[in-house]
Amino acid sequence: MNGSVSSVSAEAVRRQQIVARTIAWFQANQREFPWRDPSCGAWGVLVSEVMSQQTQMSRVEPKWLEFMALWPTPTTMAQSPVAEVIRCWDRLGYPRRAVNLHRCATAIVELHNGEVPSDREALLALPAIGAYTSAAVASFAFNKREPVVDTNIRRVLARAVNGEAVAWPANVKRDDTEMMALLPEDPDQAKLWNAGSMELGALICQSKKPLCDACPVADLCEWRARDYPAATVKPRVQAKFAGSDRQYRGRIMALLRAHPEGVELEDIPQLLGSVSAQSGSSERPTESRQTTDRTAVTSAEAFHSSETSADACRSSESSADTDRRSTMRVDITHAERLLSLADALIADGLAARTESRIHLPVN
Ligand code: SF4
Repeated sequence: MNGSVSSVSAEAVRRQQIVARTIAWFQANQREFPWRDPSCGAWGVLVSEVMSQQTQMSRVEPKWLEFMALWPTPTTMAQSPVAEVIRCWDRLGYPRRAVNLHRCATAIVELHNGEVPSDREALLALPAIGAYTSAAVASFAFNKREPVVDTNIRRVLARAVNGEAVAWPANVKRDDTEMMALLPEDPDQAKLWNAGSMELGALICQSKKPLCDACPVADLCEWRARDYPAATVKPRVQAKFAGSDRQYRGRIMALLRAHPEGVELEDIPQLLGSVSAQSGSSERPTESRQTTDRTAVTSAEAFHSSETSADACRSSESSADTDRRSTMRVDITHAERLLSLADALIADGLAARTESRIHLPVN
């Protein structure tokens, strides 16, 4: 009995030390970002959290500064056309976040008089604000005692606290339970633990190569104490970017940003260049396409509304202009894929259609 009581308290002490050491390390080593400055308002914190969810902080910073200069408040963003926000988002990736940010700004104006709410429930009720962002804004902007859990934190908790090689899959219930068990009572300390464990995961306890020699909790880490047992579940392998729908969505968005007047839908394959539907590579030059491919047609033919693909194929084969044919052939399967991706962008609110043209949305 006494033994088990002392082992429970030893474990409690170990956990407290992990928290205290991480906070001390963070206070001495944290990277300086403008949104960490105490003068940064809640809107700045919210924008930084939306931007940094799937993008590296170093890439976020210049874009965040640009956004805050253009739209220092939710009201200024809500008054801007969403197309401007998408255009400014540029190559930050996952541009749906730009649309969501604009929707969020509009809701803050309509529901909260232009002030970001401090309450987590009110934050959660905003469009496209989920468990992570609501907790992060409540903690980082308003010093609320809320559990913030992202991939980096999940990995630190899995390794240092639980002795597991990889983080568990994102799960709001488990995330909150694991983090609440460690969260200091004092909201200021809770905020430092939230931010510190995230920074520790980003800089030291990295996914592939944890820098244990530089880790402030190395002697407390359960995974290290167990001699780094391998993961019992296979880590998720990230899908290849080259040739992915994500890559082509990005290329269509870049096209729309570069053409404020929009482009003809049927011209998209030609404007983006031809690629092999089999290889899925966007890098393969048009010239390398097999001209005997039965599905090869020109983009104009592929999209001519009155032509079937067989008709289009025949008209391509009858063309005398071999050079033109070799440079303008587009795989119909690929062309259809691009059209369907363009449709998805319209459905997601990232683009709009006027008759046969696609363009950035207008408010
Ligand atoms: S000792 Fe290594 S594995 Fe453990 S928390 Fe630190 S960096 Fe991560």
